[in-house]
Amino acid sequence: MGSLRTQVGIVGAGPAGLLLGHLLHLNGIDSIIVESRSREYVIDRVRAGVLEQGTVDLLMAMGVGAGLERRGLRHDGLFISFRGRRHHIDMADLTGGKAITVYGQNEVVKDLIESRIATTRPLYFDAEHVSFSAVDSSSPIIRFRHGGVDREIHCDFVAGCDGFHGICRPSIPNGVLATYERVYPFGWLGILAEAAPSSDELVYTCHERGFALFSMRSPTITRLYCQVPPDESIDGWSDGAIWEEMLTRMTTSDGWKPNVGRIIQKGVTPMRSFVAAPMRHGRLFLAGDAAHIVPPTGAKGLNLAASDVLVLARAMKAFYERGRSDWLDEYSDVCVRRVWKAQRFSWWMTSTLHRFPDENAFDHQRQIADLDYLTSSRAAMTSLAEQYVGLAPEVSFESAGL
Ligand SMILES: Cc1cc2nc3c(=O)[nH]c(=O)nc-3n(C[C@H](O)[C@H](O)[C@H](O)COP(=O)(O)OP(=O)(O)OC[C@H]3O[C@@H](n4cnc5c(N)ncnc54)[C@H](O)[C@@H]3O)c2cc1C
Repeated sequence: MGSLRTQVGIVGAGPAGLLLGHLLHLNGIDSIIVESRSREYVIDRVRAGVLEQGTVDLLMAMGVGAGLERRGLRHDGLFISFRGRRHHIDMADLTGGKAITVYGQNEVVKDLIESRIATTRPLYFDAEHVSFSAVDSSSPIIRFRHGGVDREIHCDFVAGCDGFHGICRPSIPNGVLATYERVYPFGWLGILAEAAPSSDELVYTCHERGFALFSMRSPTITRLYCQVPPDESIDGWSDGAIWEEMLTRMTTSDGWKPNVGRIIQKGVTPMRSFVAAPMRHGRLFLAGDAAHIVPPTGAKGLNLAASDVLVLARAMKAFYERGRSDWLDEYSDVCVRRVWKAQRFSWWMTSTLHRFPDENAFDHQRQIADLDYLTSSRAAMTSLAEQYVGLAPEVSFESAGL
C-alpha cells in the first residue's frame, strides 16, 4: 500500500481537473491528480472547441496559452442561417472588442498535461478503482490502484472534476443534492472532415429538416453537426448520406456550402441540460461536468468548467494563505448563478435553432420570426453576442493569484 499526502486531491484530468491543478500550483498549493483513463485517450477525445473570451484570457494569464496563441482561430463574429440566407452577427463590434477562439479541447488538455508534467507535481493516468471517504472530516482519503499497487492519498480537500459519468457526484449521500434535468428529443451527429473550412466563422443553421452547425478545428479540418433523433445509430449513416444531409441543410441561396472531404471521425451525442446543487459536500467540491452539463449549442460546457475552477482556486488560496473559509462556503452559490445563466442561454439557443418533434406549423413560423427578429435587431444581436463571447468572470484573476 502506497500512502501519499497532498493538500488537494483532484479526481479527473479533464479541463476542470487540469486547470485547477495548475491554478493551485501557481499559488504554491500542492495537489495530486488521479485520472482513470490513459494519457492518449484523454488527449484524443474530440469534444469542445469554442473558448469564450474569458477562458482565453484565463489560459493566457495562467501562462499556458502558447499553443492557443499560435494555433487558436479568433472569431469576431458568427452567422445565423435560416430560409437559405446567412445573417452575420459582428460579436466584436457588439461587445466592445470581445470574441471567441476556436481551439480544440484536446489541444487545451494536451497543453495542460504538458504544463502539469513540467511542474513535476503528480498526475496518475490509468488509475483503477478510484474511490474516496471521509469527505465530511478534515482529512478525506482518495483510494485507487495504479501499476498493480493500492494507493491512498490523504488530503485536505477533494476536487470532484470527473465529469458527468464520474464517481464523485454519485458518492454524495441521497438527499444532499437537488438535481434539475432536461433531456432533449434529439442528438447531434458530428463529423470531423479533412476539408479546408469554407467560412472563417461558425454558421448556425435552422433548416426545415432540422438544425445544423458548420464549425472548424484548424485551417485544414472542418467540424460539422446536424440534428438527428436522440437514439440514432451512427452505423446507419454512410459517409455519402452524411454529406448529403449536411449539404442539404447548410447550402445557402448565394451558393455557400461546406467543402467536402474525407470523414475522419463521426459520432452521435445526446443532448441534455443538468444541474446538481450545491456543488459542495463537506470537503468535496464538484467542478465542471461533474456538477452540470449543457447542450453544446451555446458552447458553454468547457467554459463553465474553467469558470468553476477559477472560483475554487480563489477560495483555496484564501484558505491556505489567510485561513479564510468564507469563500469556500460561497463557492457553490457563486458558481451556480453562472451555471443557470449558461443553462438558460444554451436552452434558448437550442430551442431557437432546432426542430422539435411535437411542434406544429404555428410553432415553426414563430421560430422563424424569432430568428428574423434576432438578426435584424441590434439589441437582440447584442444580447446573443455578449452571452456567446461569455459573461464577465465571477471573480477577478488577481483574487485567484494571477
Ligand atoms: C461531443 C461533445 C461536444 C462538446 N462540444 C462543446 C463545445 O463546443 N463547447 C463547450 O464549451 N463544451 C462542449 N462540450 C462539453 C465539454 O466537452 C465539457 O463540458 C468539458 O469536457 C467538461 O470538462 P470537465 O473537466 O468538467 O469534464 P471531462 O472533460 O468529462 O473530464 C472528466 C475526466 O474525469 C475522468 N474520470 C471519470 N471518472 C473518473 C474516476 N472514477 N476516476 C478518475 N477519473 C475519472 C474522465 O476520464 C475525464 O478525463 C462537448 C462535449 C461533448 C461530449
